Amino acid sequence: MLTIAPEKILSDLIQIDSSNPPGNETAVAVYLKKLFDDAGIVGEIIEPEEGRGSYIVRLGQGSKKLLYIAHSDVVPVGDGWDFKPFSGEIKNGVVHGRGALDCKDLIAAQVSAALRLVEEKVPLNGELIIAVTADEEIGGRLGAGFLAERRPELIQADFAVNEGADQPIMIKNKLAYFLQVGEKGTAWCTLKAHGTAGHGSVPTLADNAVVKMARAVSRLHNYRAEVVVVPEVEKLLKSLAKLCGIEVQALGPNEVDALLDQLPLEKAFVESLRSMTRMTVSPNQIRGGTKTNIVPDYCEADIDIRILPGQDCEYVEKELRLIINKEIEIEFNEYRAPTFSSSRESFYRLMEEVTLGLAGDNAICLPVISAGSTDSKFLRGAGIPSYGIGHMASGFDQQARTTVHGKNERIDIESLSLKTDFLKELARRYLA
Ligand SMILES: [Zn+2]
Repeated sequence: MLTIAPEKILSDLIQIDSSNPPGNETAVAVYLKKLFDDAGIVGEIIEPEEGRGSYIVRLGQGSKKLLYIAHSDVVPVGDGWDFKPFSGEIKNGVVHGRGALDCKDLIAAQVSAALRLVEEKVPLNGELIIAVTADEEIGGRLGAGFLAERRPELIQADFAVNEGADQPIMIKNKLAYFLQVGEKGTAWCTLKAHGTAGHGSVPTLADNAVVKMARAVSRLHNYRAEVVVVPEVEKLLKSLAKLCGIEVQALGPNEVDALLDQLPLEKAFVESLRSMTRMTVSPNQIRGGTKTNIVPDYCEADIDIRILPGQDCEYVEKELRLIINKEIEIEFNEYRAPTFSSSRESFYRLMEEVTLGLAGDNAICLPVISAGSTDSKFLRGAGIPSYGIGHMASGFDQQARTTVHGKNERIDIESLSLKTDFLKELARRYLA
């Protein structure tokens, strides 16, 4: 058997258009099945709906189980690309196309790592499970969600490694790699204000619902959420402070914002740190009124609320009620619980060790909580501690950072190799 380079696998995967909708992830599953079949390892395609297949394959035997998961669908490409989004062209050490960073790169790295373990006949004391899942970009119901609910035996594992962490950033002279240990939940709600309609020429006779809502929205905008520092985020903030030469003794709720305001780091990063330390509330849509000369008797507003591990709808309602008066109804219309996996697991330390072993003395590993969600929510929901990575090589193209879900998505081969080496070494060591 001849090893296929991860960049070749990635290029092939990019050429399979699995834009979701409609998905068509079965084509990816079929491609991967053939790759493993050729290596003498037979996996399975699970297809809850036509064309929406996920692929699962297992290597090794034993009681230990390690799951590598990555999604096979991509977001639609849109216009304005400088190259063909599904060409998969490899040029100047870079693989080009939709999915190159989210997250066909991870599939290519996982598959390539597994095939190398097979080729090198590395003995595995346990199972390495690779799950390439459909439908993640629209919530994962037909992919990881389906597997977790209907075929949990296929993905049951001691630990899982997934996408979900930011790419590394250079801080002073250290390259900080992130390990995602949690994802914030969503508690989207609609606020509803009622009033009394009337003629716009005599507004004092009416009770204006838009004005009531405007007051509520303005209070929401000024709301300062309680600062909550989970131990992993405390470690993250203290490590960043140390790297930046800022002395931090305690890191209570009062000190967090003072530290964040001092960190000499990019604003986007600092604000993402701020969102890891509190619930965020953003009033993003408002509807009310019908005509210029009618005082409106109804107005509603949609609020995007993201909650931390440990918070729930009850917490959100209690907080909102402190600032929004009783007259305004609060209706929750989309709730997804936050998820979390502890960094105190020995597996987490192994991930750190393997990262530093590959990235060198110049690197550091830090835990993070994401504001968005991935398939990890299903795994954590099924009791599988799950960790997200975003590993890249030290010289990776910083400009490519913004191409995820954007245009001109691409990855350098060096970063793809680092991901592959990391996953191969992690499996080898965990299943030793
Ligand atoms: Zn993704």
